[in-house]
Amino acid sequence: MAKHKTHYEECDVLVVGGGMAGTGATFEARHWGRDLKIICVEKANIDRSGAVAQGLYAINCYMGMQWDENQPEDHVRYARNDLMGMVREDLGYDMARHVDSTVHMFDEWGLPMMKNEKTGRYLREGKWQIMIHGESYKPIVAEAAKKSADKIYNRIMVTHLLMDEAKENRIGGAVGFNMRTGDFHVFRSKTVIVAAGGASHIFKPRAVGEGMGRTWYAPWSNGSAYALPIAAGAKMTQMENRIVLCRFKDGYGPVGAYFLHLKTYTQNANGENYEKKWYDQTKELVGEYIDHHPTPTCLRNHAFIQEVASGNGPIHMVTTEAFQDPHLETVGWENFLGMTVGQAVVWASQNIDPKYTNPELTTSEPYVMGSHATCSGAWVSGPEDLSPPEYFWGYNRMLTIDGLFGAGDTVGGSAHKFSSGSFTEGRLAAKAAVKYIEDQKAKGIKVSDKQCDDFKKTVYKPLDNYTVAQNEITGGTVSPSYISPIQGLQRLQKIMDEYVGGITSNYMTNGNLLKKGLELLAWLQEDLEHVGAEDYHQLMRAWELKHRALTSQCVTEHTLFREETRWPGYYYRGDHMKLDDENWHCLTVSRRDPKTGKFTLEKVPVYHIVDEKEKKKAS
Ligand SMILES: Cc1cc2nc3c(=O)[nH]c(=O)nc-3n(C[C@H](O)[C@H](O)[C@H](O)COP(=O)(O)OP(=O)(O)OC[C@H]3O[C@@H](n4cnc5c(N)ncnc54)[C@H](O)[C@@H]3O)c2cc1C
Repeated sequence: MAKHKTHYEECDVLVVGGGMAGTGATFEARHWGRDLKIICVEKANIDRSGAVAQGLYAINCYMGMQWDENQPEDHVRYARNDLMGMVREDLGYDMARHVDSTVHMFDEWGLPMMKNEKTGRYLREGKWQIMIHGESYKPIVAEAAKKSADKIYNRIMVTHLLMDEAKENRIGGAVGFNMRTGDFHVFRSKTVIVAAGGASHIFKPRAVGEGMGRTWYAPWSNGSAYALPIAAGAKMTQMENRIVLCRFKDGYGPVGAYFLHLKTYTQNANGENYEKKWYDQTKELVGEYIDHHPTPTCLRNHAFIQEVASGNGPIHMVTTEAFQDPHLETVGWENFLGMTVGQAVVWASQNIDPKYTNPELTTSEPYVMGSHATCSGAWVSGPEDLSPPEYFWGYNRMLTIDGLFGAGDTVGGSAHKFSSGSFTEGRLAAKAAVKYIEDQKAKGIKVSDKQCDDFKKTVYKPLDNYTVAQNEITGGTVSPSYISPIQGLQRLQKIMDEYVGGITSNYMTNGNLLKKGLELLAWLQEDLEHVGAEDYHQLMRAWELKHRALTSQCVTEHTLFREETRWPGYYYRGDHMKLDDENWHCLTVSRRDPKTGKFTLEKVPVYHIVDEKEKKKAS
């Protein structure tokens, strides 16, 4: 252990993860905290890290309030509808009322925005989306963060949060290691903002073997955003609300621009519109939610899944009509070149020219995240002026640990934030973190060297496991004493896939399967004490796996707790196939006791704040 040098930093605001939310937090922390010491720690390199690494073609969350295109209330209703009622409306409203100012800054910073030639407004792709030439999106927001931070640390994976030893349930910083040098880094900090993205690769992906690593969500998003706070004892919400995406097959290419801008549509193998065929069956399951407009994302998936299961697949996107228009053809290709180049390559390899062949669609494996058409994540305080007492405890976006904040995929309950909303939420969290410091809430924090040294031993244990046992095997990769990160990952994915509602079971699970899944996950956790890493890259893989495994336990506990099928098309509880508003029109909140590792779950009321406000105004 001595061979790994330890570096110490003390700071005021520590941002973990320099993706969209993390760059927003770093930028805003400087605005409010001119004299504070602000550090951002990133696992990759913030110039090209996170889900936006490759670029985007649209900013999916923009109100357009300056032109009265939409108001925050409209967005809250939209997100509520899409999530079958289950959102934190205080958080959604708060994000929506600020998101336009974020987008205007992106414009000022040089992000090429497409404009409507007639109106001069941003070019709309859909009601909420505006189109950009977004290959440079991430470097642009990274520059803002770089100019704001005292220091950006790239290539450091944060593995644990540090807790204050002077006052219970207060944050003290974080630790991690540098994947290139192997050095250990201790960041003692008055506040920590976790912005470490969502979780891919916890369910077995469709692309395995030669295609492994090809996923819809960023393959390097490994659930640290959840595992870090869960391990420290913070409460989580809606972790059962995993997302399944309908995407172009094998390349996971996005379909939004195709539906919204190119006006392409889907059909089954017989050339039929299949969605309406499933109306009565879906109504049986979810009641009037199927009549909502737009149809919730999960219910559209449901029709897709049922149609394929009934023998009428594959489902195709009809591109051959739109692609006859040279302008739309260009848009269709550029859409991939700006953010999912791999889809164009897959089509080339399969000899698909969408002008002449309608490409196949598929439903993806599930992902856990908090910023898309889904809202798993940490249970956070909302803003003072909007949140009911159950949702407010002092500082906006603060988790249930004092001084620990979250933003973007980290935060649960606030769906449909996307890139711009995640950056905005980072800004909101940073503003609150600075206020927390100004209010003297971070005085007298004590983090002993012992706490840091104990974590150091834990962090490097996979290297020790490998070093001690490597000579026991003379060939191959199977050791009697340790498992490799890839072996552990595949075991995790198999458990989640078969027991918790992945692709193999067509997203179906039930109470018995979930209980068995939890048992297998507990044994996996035991074996992860014996994960072996041969180098620093594998050490990162080992810690990614550990974070994924903890996130998975939380997902499984939540899925077991909610005894209904709230989102058919995301997953099914076979023993409770119907949506049950009488018993489950509520949010689920969990906490894992860091001492015992046991989860406890509770129901928390879901408040429909926006329409309550309207009703009050009317009366
Ligand atoms: C395929 C795809 C398409 C999308 N399309 C659109 C779109 O068209 N329009 C739109 O507006 N939005 C889109 N989104 C959504 C948008 O990208 C996300 O909402 C947004 O990036 C979430 O921000 P975040 O900061 O929470 O996560 P990220 O931006 O992913 O950032 C997380 C960061 O944390 C780092 N990190 C992770 N773990 C650790 C750790 N342990 N230690 C240190 N650092 C860590 C990661 O490297 C990463 O840089 C898309 C997302 C995907 C995946």
